[in-house]
This record gives sequence, C-alpha cells and structure tokens, in this order.
Amino acid sequence: MTHIPERMCAGCRKKAPKQSLLRLTAAGGSIIIDEKQNIQSRGIYVCRDEKCIAAMKKKKSLSRLFRQNIPDELYEKLIEKCKNGACSTQRGGFSG
Ligand SMILES: [Zn+2]
Repeated sequence: MTHIPERMCAGCRKKAPKQSLLRLTAAGGSIIIDEKQNIQSRGIYVCRDEKCIAAMKKKKSLSRLFRQNIPDELYEKLIEKCKNGACSTQRGGFSG
C-alpha cells in the first residue's frame, strides 16, 4: 500500500492528494502558484477549481495564512490563471 500525501483544500475543505491540488505560496508581497510544490515557504493548497479560489477570497484565507493583506485583485488573478489553464493540468486522472 502506497501512502499518498493528502492536503486539505482551503476553499472547500475537502482532502485530496496533494498533486491534484494547486499549491500557493507568498513571494515578494505577491501570491504565486508553486507548480512543483517544492518552494520552502509557507503554502496553502486549493483545488484546481476557480470556485475554491473564489471561496478563499470570500474567507480571506490567504490574508490569514500569510499574515498580510491580500487584495481581491490577487485572487482575481489566480482565478484568471486558473481559467487560462493552470487549473486544467490535471495529473493522474484525478477528478472530483
Ligand atoms: Zn476545493
């Protein structure tokens, strides 16, 4: 039995294998998508789903986690990226 590391989505709070989630981290006052999930700084996981990013925006999850003010435009940018393909790179056939 292989152990698959799971992380909780900050939007819908569902658990999923971390590879299927998007890892976000703070860098230089901005929020970036940690595609390789190996940046050594505090990160947050969210489903590859614009709905979950919108839910985080509503809850201001990133502001709380990164202890800085995250403007709404930053969430909007993430949602845009999501629509432009960042969310569609589903790995391992996971869907849900
Ligand atoms: Zn989610």
